Amino acid sequence: MSEYVESLTLDKDLFRNGELLATTLNLVVPCYNEEEVLPETSTRLFALLDRLIKAGEVSDESRIVFVDDGSRDHTWSIIEALHATNARYGGIKLSRNRGHQNALLAGLLTVQGDVIVSLDADLQDDVEAIPRMLAQYRLGAEIVFGVRHKRDTDTFFKRFTARNYYKLLGTFGVDIQPGHADFRLMSRKTVEALRQFQEVNLFLRGIIPLLGFKTAVVEYERAPRFAGESKYPLGKMLAFAFDGITSFSAVPLQWSTRIGALLAFGSLCFGAWAAFARLFTDLTVPGWASTVIPMYFLGGIQLLFLGVIGGYISKTYAETKQRPRFIIERTL
Ligand code: UDP
Ligand code: MG
Repeated sequence: MSEYVESLTLDKDLFRNGELLATTLNLVVPCYNEEEVLPETSTRLFALLDRLIKAGEVSDESRIVFVDDGSRDHTWSIIEALHATNARYGGIKLSRNRGHQNALLAGLLTVQGDVIVSLDADLQDDVEAIPRMLAQYRLGAEIVFGVRHKRDTDTFFKRFTARNYYKLLGTFGVDIQPGHADFRLMSRKTVEALRQFQEVNLFLRGIIPLLGFKTAVVEYERAPRFAGESKYPLGKMLAFAFDGITSFSAVPLQWSTRIGALLAFGSLCFGAWAAFARLFTDLTVPGWASTVIPMYFLGGIQLLFLGVIGGYISKTYAETKQRPRFIIERTL
């Protein structure tokens, strides 16, 4: 320890809040069928880490840890080969595919070190933002959010849905960092705080703001996927979006009450009008339309909200079972 202190004392960047910093940085990269991008991703991350270590910004125990989320291609053998060439590459193999959020959590809760940066395997997250995140950490931030500067590399559809989705979350009272996905720096303290959140239905970008702590934002430009295809097809994206709302807000349930009350009141007025028309006017009482349309309409609304309520019940069901969120088969 003493020689460490001697070699570092002159560099004031290595102090944080007046304390000497021997920051061990671990990069956590969830991978699902990423054989096409891993060679490039690993090279770039290695180069970055190497640079940071040589500059004395992070300790030489820093590592790059790939979490294999039950890939069906050669992802794991690539990770093994990388580990064989250099122990700075690590790997965590999950026993099966559990989805991005669980894979990420497995990485966060397993790796050691003072600081963890999570990023996607496809190089959409700009690795050059990592030194800037570290700088924010040194200034005292415990969590640093990577926030997209622009979204023009995404399709129009993705941009449109994402923008409106974030708005919707806001209306439902969910506190979320706009433009931020899962590219973030977390200090040891905040990861330990995250460990206490035991929920099975994971939506990390909703949980992280709940942790509190001092946060900072680093902007970056989101690149297109380096190679391969998105592992988030529309169906998965919709399920994830629904999860995001129902994990943090009960507002949709209140809506069912409100809409129900509104419809009931509306039908009362309609009934009153029908009685009035029958007694005091000789207007012909509309028959078919006034019976059948409300029937379908009400049936539709009822089914819709039964679905919403069902969504919450199924979540409660999953939570009460308390099954493990991930199972680790091997670590390197
Ligand atoms: N991913 C994962 N498990 C999954 C799906 C995706 O670990 O079931 C990883 C994937 O390898 C990538 C990250 O999650 O590192 C983001 O996925 P992707 O780039 O396909 O999503 P997009 O950027 O299109 O939203
Ligand atoms: Mg991507």
